[in-house]
Amino acid sequence: MDCKWTFLSADVELTNLCSENCAMCPRDHLQRPQGIMSQNVFSKVLEVLVGFDSRITFSGFGNPTLHPLWHSCVKQARAAGLPAGLVLHPSTLTSEVLQLLVRHPPSHLEISFPSIDPALFSRLCPRSDYTEAVRRVVELRRLNITPMVCVGLQTDGSLKSAGHYRSFWKAYGVRTRFFPCHSRGGNLQDRSWVRATPSQSQSCGLLAIHAFVAWNGDLLACCHDLTGETRIGNLCTDEPMLLAQQKSSFAEAGPPWALCQACDEFRKNWPLPEGACPRDPAERGRQLAKKVNKK
Ligand code: SF4
Repeated sequence: MDCKWTFLSADVELTNLCSENCAMCPRDHLQRPQGIMSQNVFSKVLEVLVGFDSRITFSGFGNPTLHPLWHSCVKQARAAGLPAGLVLHPSTLTSEVLQLLVRHPPSHLEISFPSIDPALFSRLCPRSDYTEAVRRVVELRRLNITPMVCVGLQTDGSLKSAGHYRSFWKAYGVRTRFFPCHSRGGNLQDRSWVRATPSQSQSCGLLAIHAFVAWNGDLLACCHDLTGETRIGNLCTDEPMLLAQQKSSFAEAGPPWALCQACDEFRKNWPLPEGACPRDPAERGRQLAKKVNKK
């Protein structure tokens, strides 16, 4: 496998601080250091990701808008020629954040909106008000800043959940994705929410094309890592191509970490990319789509 595939997309954790307490997030068991990415680390990370033509998404175990210069990071990444988006909880969509999004538009936005059932939403996101959360997403859509998608979670047995979710948001012109809730590498303590089943695949299709960069520049195998056990190296101090080579060998041979033994993340089963990684992002997308459709 061409190791350049391993940085096709990159989640960059501007911070792992968060004031939500969502039931489907195991953040309260986070053992790796908590903090905010410095400008020095960000500049180095961006330089490396420019070298790989990565698609950046600011996300991770925190709320990216708690980084005081998150909008500047979006602006810098886009000025460097990379797609750069954000994963946000609806409660972060304050009028101040909306104004900053208008001024510094990201290339994509993903809103974590686990359920459109008000009672279930309140259990999953106990610090958020459902009605206000919907209002904020609708306002974001009205502003039409950038392509956005609401991401829902199947946490109950109802087969109708996905259809309901899709038609609810379609009425507001919002695209959706909907997944069975998984255990974040076995880290979610309350398994009553989990609907995914552990994966049988030895290799990891997610590790093969996706990088996770923590706020201190550490390259971790996966966003599910709460302890730092899957640290491959650091983007500020290690040779990027060596990191990519290590990452591709772990992805092909099977990730060696304990975290991966309990993994029920469906993206693990994605097929590994073949051939040279094209420079053109659109061509990369076409090649991967062909592989997934063939599977
Ligand atoms: S096997 Fe699962 S936990 Fe391990 S790197 Fe892949 S997606 Fe992450």
